[in-house]
Amino acid sequence: VRDTRRLVGIQVRISGKRPADVSDLVLKTTDLMLHHRGRGGGSVVAALDGVTIGVHRGECLAVVGESGCGKTTLARLLVGLGRPTAGDVILNRLSLFDGDREKRRSLRRQVQLVFQDAAGSLNPWRRVGATVAEGIKVHRLAVGEAVGVEVVRLFEEVGLAPDSVDRFPNQLSGGQRQRVGLARALAVGPEVLVADEPLSALDVSVQTRILELLADLKSKDGMTVVLISHDLAAVRLLADRIAVMYLGRVVEVAPSKAILSSPAHPYTQMLLESVPEADPNIRTRSAVIYGEPPNPASPPKGCAFHPRCPNADASCQTTRPQLKTVAHGHDVACLLVPESG
Ligand code: SF4
Repeated sequence: VRDTRRLVGIQVRISGKRPADVSDLVLKTTDLMLHHRGRGGGSVVAALDGVTIGVHRGECLAVVGESGCGKTTLARLLVGLGRPTAGDVILNRLSLFDGDREKRRSLRRQVQLVFQDAAGSLNPWRRVGATVAEGIKVHRLAVGEAVGVEVVRLFEEVGLAPDSVDRFPNQLSGGQRQRVGLARALAVGPEVLVADEPLSALDVSVQTRILELLADLKSKDGMTVVLISHDLAAVRLLADRIAVMYLGRVVEVAPSKAILSSPAHPYTQMLLESVPEADPNIRTRSAVIYGEPPNPASPPKGCAFHPRCPNADASCQTTRPQLKTVAHGHDVACLLVPESG
């Protein structure tokens, strides 16, 4: 377990201002589903099973959950990689999956993925400056010498020395490679960054600097960020809102403060209980983990969380809970949590 306590004291600059009007949604999904055959052509697995979320312009929405809950599948669909079985991803009122190839390509330029595995996403035989220049050239955002000037500007923006442009990926540290990944994403001028576990495999001090960089992009440039992570300790430093996923579905979504101080779903409570805690403002109890995530190829009937849930009753084994509003901006999918008003 990473020492998340050290992250708690980090001073990350965030705007602290989130527009509340749904009309300012820059990116949203509507009942997004992705079903595929399990290993060896076995049963159908619902990697995503009806995800509806919206991201406001200029905010950071964190999507958290255990490994296998569908976070990475969601991240890929948010940038138009792959195709959903049903549902849609809408960017500025336009579907990422409609229209001709040129229109889709132009739309997808506005939402860029920062990969989890920075090393694996960079060509080991290519100088990193050339990798970052590629998007600028493909989208004809600069020509000739201006391309090199723009690459150096991007390197400086993400905190890399200008002479790093001539390095190969194996000549950089893990944190520097993640910065190259960020520079590559920023090169095409996106409105939204989708960062898929950008802190994994980095040590704590490097995680801090990457978080500060994302916070700077958000506060100075108004960048909208979707931060995918299993690490609640890290996301709370940056996220305005948090969506918690379990087995392909969103089970709770709320402003970060509400999730961290008054989690309503038993699974969110369990995730928080598993985080070593040094911040007295955040609710914790004894660190208890109830069981393992179920096999997605044969999910439990009713509420998928019921085999692990300490509060489950008979109705939980037969009835599937839907998201309901329990407070302003706070939705929960649990049969036993009362709806507001
Ligand atoms: Fe637990 Fe039942 Fe709520 Fe599911 S619906 S989270 S099993 S109490």
